[in-house]
Parts: sequence; structure tokens; C-alpha cells
Amino acid sequence: MREANALSRPLRDRAVPAILGRRQRYSRITPMYRISFSKYEGRTVAEVMLRDAPYLYRLAAVSAGQADRSEMLVEFNRLRKQLRRARIHKYCRGKDCEKRAKWMTLPTDWKGRHLARPYYWCDGHEPWEEDGVSDKLPVHFDVIKRFRFDKRGQKIIFRKVRSALGIQEGTRLTEEKAIRFFAHLSQKG
Ligand SMILES: [Zn+2]
Repeated sequence: MREANALSRPLRDRAVPAILGRRQRYSRITPMYRISFSKYEGRTVAEVMLRDAPYLYRLAAVSAGQADRSEMLVEFNRLRKQLRRARIHKYCRGKDCEKRAKWMTLPTDWKGRHLARPYYWCDGHEPWEEDGVSDKLPVHFDVIKRFRFDKRGQKIIFRKVRSALGIQEGTRLTEEKAIRFFAHLSQKG
């Protein structure tokens, strides 16, 4: 009975006190590292991941081996791993294929640089071109790494992948929602 009540109450009542009010206790269950520097000071890695993953990927790249960043990196990698379980909301581009997409490809320009214009594919379909197109890549923020020297490309591909993963953007993307999003993925299997 008590459990049923807990479930029917909105998240604000049941989970947030555990997350925000008793942060220490919660952190033993799920680490909730807060960024302690830069423009995202005080924000959780989970929220920044959904708001501005390119920033975190760049931060991670320059933080390797820095002792005071190790907790942040652990949390970043934990969220990356969980994100692999996220449901993809795009459908395969294959002719008459109605399957939900599992992969994406990106066009590449004449210099071999990726363009932030993804095409989505199921397991069984792939692009008909052989040149000028990337391998089939997971629909995941890790694709940001392919835009290493292209900050604008990072931002565009991030927004496209975020949308493909069905994540709402903007002011609606609160800390609470970010934490709930990742908590849901960790329960998925
Ligand atoms: Zn298909």
C-alpha cells in the first residue's frame, strides 16, 4: 500500500527530496557529481549532458589525467554508457522500411570531414553510396567526437541526436528531468 502511494505521487514529492534534500545519501546510490567550475558551475553532469553535451566532451578531452576531474569523468562515462540504452525516435530511411532506426550515417565532404546531416538506418539497411558517407554509427552523443575541430558541427549534431533520442530541449530541460531520464535508462536492463 505504501509503495503504491509512493509511485502515484509526482516525482517532485518522492524522488527529489532524496536527490536534493539528502544529496549525500542519494550519491551513494547514484553518483550525482556537480560541476564546480565554468559556466555550468553547480549543475549536475546529467543536466549538462542533455543541455550541452559538446561542452562535456570537450571538457573530458582536456581533463584526462587530472585528479580533481576524475569524479566528473567517472560520472560522464557512466552517463555515456547509460545513453546507449536510450530509445531512438527515428525510423529507417530504407525503402518501405518501417523499422525504428538503430544507426545513423553522416555524409563526408571531399576532405573526409563529417557533415552534421544524419541519415537513420535499421540493422538491415544502409546507404546505397559507398563514397562520401560514414560507417553506420550508433545514435549517441559520442558522434560529437567525430567533429573534433568543428564546434559548430558539434552543436548541430548534438541537437539532432538529442532530438532523435526524444529529449526535450530548452528551458523544459530541468535538472530533475535530466536525472529522471538517466534513472529511467538505468532501470531498463
Ligand atoms: Zn530498414
